[in-house]
Amino acid sequence: MDIEIIEMAERKAKFLLRNSSPAMANALRRTMLSDIPKMAIDRVEFHLGPIMVDDKEYESITPLFDEIIAHRLGMVPVPTDYTLFTYQDECPCGGVGCPSCTIMYSLNKIGPCTVLSGDLLPLGNPELKVKDEFVPIVELADGQAVLIYCIALMGTAKKHVKWQVANGVGYKYMPVVSADPEKASSPAALRCAEICPKKVFEVENGKLTVKRPLDCSLCMTCIEESEGSGVTVEGSEKDFVFKFETDGSLTAQQCLDKTLEILSSKASGFKMQIEEI
Ligand SMILES: [Zn+2]
Repeated sequence: MDIEIIEMAERKAKFLLRNSSPAMANALRRTMLSDIPKMAIDRVEFHLGPIMVDDKEYESITPLFDEIIAHRLGMVPVPTDYTLFTYQDECPCGGVGCPSCTIMYSLNKIGPCTVLSGDLLPLGNPELKVKDEFVPIVELADGQAVLIYCIALMGTAKKHVKWQVANGVGYKYMPVVSADPEKASSPAALRCAEICPKKVFEVENGKLTVKRPLDCSLCMTCIEESEGSGVTVEGSEKDFVFKFETDGSLTAQQCLDKTLEILSSKASGFKMQIEEI
């Protein structure tokens, strides 16, 4: 299969998957959703008891249950660098926890305030600060405080959605739209430009032209409601328009590279198993 990038932004991408099959496009989608490793906060320790700040005593209490705060912290995107981190159970430390398999964060706030994800501070490397800094975690009233230590570990979305890097992953058959030049000036053809909900066509010099074929959703409105227009629309069965976004823990390019690496190693593993039978 070939990949032709249409758009590659930091957190979202769109590309053409060519010379492939629906099965392969779906395998790519499923791998991207569930097999890409990332770091996410997995252990949260809450300080209990009073907290003294500038001779004022604050109570370690919030309006939310600790479990809800822990869950929200788990969903905050944590930057992931494969050259720095590995799975804890594969780490040379033997799963005890070390700088190669864990990131530690502290969160220390006193009320009144809204605690935000950006208040999570990494212990050590400042580049490991969380990606989205404005995710509200909890609202503190006057006299309330939180002191939390968190540990982020590497995992995949097979275990929990907090380890899911990609979202909005989807594909469609690549639309192949054409307009017969001999009929392009006919009223039926010109009507296609008006009725197409995706604005695929434009009228230039009194003739219908196909302007944005990839925007076509194969709804077939132009075919069904404007007979004799000379327009043909079909979905290619071996080319796909694929798009996805990431939560920021990896860039879209890193996510795509890792997906292809994992899919390729899975395919080689499967091939080896078949050959052994
Ligand atoms: Zn370790």
